[in-house]
Amino acid sequence: MKIIAMIPARYEASRFPGKLMKDLDGKPVIVRTYEAAIATALFDEVYVVTDSEIIFKEIEKCGGKAIMSTKEHECGSDRIAEAVENMDVDIVVNVQGDEPFTSKEGLEKVLQVYNGNDAHKIDLASLMTEIHDWEEINDPNCVKVIVDKENFAIYFSRSPIPFQRDEKANVSYYKHKGIYAFRKEALMEFYRLPKGSLEAAEKIECIRYLEYGKNIKMAISNSKGIEIDTPEDLLKANQFLRHGEDYDFSITKERDKKIEPNSMCRNFPMVPKVVFGEGCFTQLAVILDAKRKSNAPFIFLLDDVFENNHAILDKVELKNNDKLLFISTEKEPKTDQIDRMVAELKSEFNLLPSGIIGIGGGSIMDIAKAVAILMTNKGNAADYQGWDLVKNKAIYHVGIPTISGTGSEVSRTTVLNGPVKKLGINSDFTPFDQVILDPKLTKGVPKNQWFYTGMDCFIHCVESLNGTFLNAFSQSYGEKAYELCKEIFLHESLTEEESRAKLMMASWHGGMSIAYSQVGIAHALSYGLSYVLGVKHGIGNCIVFSHLEEYYPEGVALFNEMIVKQQVDIPKNICKDLTEDQFDTMIDVALSLPPLWENALGKEWKSIMTRDKIRSMYSKM
Ligand code: NAD
Ligand code: ZN
Repeated sequence: MKIIAMIPARYEASRFPGKLMKDLDGKPVIVRTYEAAIATALFDEVYVVTDSEIIFKEIEKCGGKAIMSTKEHECGSDRIAEAVENMDVDIVVNVQGDEPFTSKEGLEKVLQVYNGNDAHKIDLASLMTEIHDWEEINDPNCVKVIVDKENFAIYFSRSPIPFQRDEKANVSYYKHKGIYAFRKEALMEFYRLPKGSLEAAEKIECIRYLEYGKNIKMAISNSKGIEIDTPEDLLKANQFLRHGEDYDFSITKERDKKIEPNSMCRNFPMVPKVVFGEGCFTQLAVILDAKRKSNAPFIFLLDDVFENNHAILDKVELKNNDKLLFISTEKEPKTDQIDRMVAELKSEFNLLPSGIIGIGGGSIMDIAKAVAILMTNKGNAADYQGWDLVKNKAIYHVGIPTISGTGSEVSRTTVLNGPVKKLGINSDFTPFDQVILDPKLTKGVPKNQWFYTGMDCFIHCVESLNGTFLNAFSQSYGEKAYELCKEIFLHESLTEEESRAKLMMASWHGGMSIAYSQVGIAHALSYGLSYVLGVKHGIGNCIVFSHLEEYYPEGVALFNEMIVKQQVDIPKNICKDLTEDQFDTMIDVALSLPPLWENALGKEWKSIMTRDKIRSMYSKM
């Protein structure tokens, strides 16, 4: 059986003129494609068939085989048909001129179908790949295909097919990849047949075969390719050549430049949409309706403290197959908890959800952010603890705080306890897409908890304002939040309603302040307590902070005044029965956060903050 590859190459491309002659790491795109096809060693011969003298000459120049097409053609198949008319070949594979990384795996798969028992029935073979993202499924530029039990194509469409009337039906979606292996007779027949009406309506060439009763066998391939459709694709392709096979195309351009986590000027994303005000929570249904993707559910994550709270539950409108999960926040969020949740959601729903909605305190905010990230990023949550390790955009996620102070609703991190450390997933994809700030939701918070979480905000400000990373951006937000905290926790003039609204904004400003700086000693030590003793963040910070007079004298003095004024209890002597091993682990966790120490004490922090020093501070708590 003689198998050849044909690469149709038109010079004009409506979206990106002259793209095949653009430079791809030293050679034109079309030459790269030609060489890649040769390198697969699957073909007896490889040709470029073109309408352009420039491309023709370029291929000849590099020793390749090119054919000038003599006629105007509407599509690549026609161009190929004209070229092979007088050739003695059995199978003709079209390789896209703008796919310089056409993988051997895909081409092999499409050729393999001619070795099967049903080979005699096949007129044409092509490729498909399973897709899960609703945006892609609904994108008319992405051609979907449905197949019969033997993987023969039933229909191709730009509409999402099949239509999923039954939400619970187990449906897979396949994207058609434009690689074909034709029997020569079928190709020549295709060339002579007039265009069909469905083909004309959808503008999908291969429908013509179906309209004339031909059999198209589909092979499944999951190898990622990169088509050069836009100048940006070309840039990515150039990066691919530099980074090799492991390069992930979804990495954004900014991230390639490896910005240091604490470099002085950072380009970071902020929450793009936020609504504030008493009662604004009622807008939730309308906000979500605009983001709903057909049958893909919204997943609501609620603190289980609201299990019987109808004021809140009544406003959470569940539609279609939306899911509501109550989550205990007795313990702080853990990486394996996120992994379990993501695995369950993926097994229950075939499609990516329309979005994740978190309703609760800092714990729920962080869980919602982490789940949204892990829905589109492989592996485990622990793999992403650190700075800028997340590769793919998270799914749509909404944060609705019901207690104020952490700033998690606005921050670029989601703090998780992992197998070896407590550390955030700090990335450009972490921040919420939408935040709903309704002070009314914070109404039922118990007094001590109100203080502990409120103090998280105050302590964030103290650490940020006294840190070495401070700049005018951080300072302006930090000062405002600091003043608001003083007003809320030290003065008597505010009504409860005013306090709720102001603390909500203090939390927001505190979170913004840290976006451009860092927290400091209280947080480093508090993370250690949390890791070893399970002490929750807000209360842990309070326990630690009262021992930090040496580092934050003014802040600690105000804090002590607030404790008296608010009549709250701060636990004491929680470390008194710890073993040396536990102290060691606590110190390890605290020291595993260099940016926090550097912010607090400067670059030479290691000479100031020794293990002994930390040990003696912990032993007093
Ligand atoms: P939390 O979310 O654990 O909530 C504290 C308690 O308040 C819980 O028992 C909860 O059930 C209850 N609660 C919340 N809203 C309530 C309401 N309206 N009525 C009655 N009870 C209510 O605690 P938190 O202090 O908000 O958050 C702490 C977590 O946030 C920690 O895990 C910490 O690591 C994280 N954090 C994250 C960031 C970030 O930027 N991502 C920043 C700071 C803290
Ligand atoms: Zn904090």
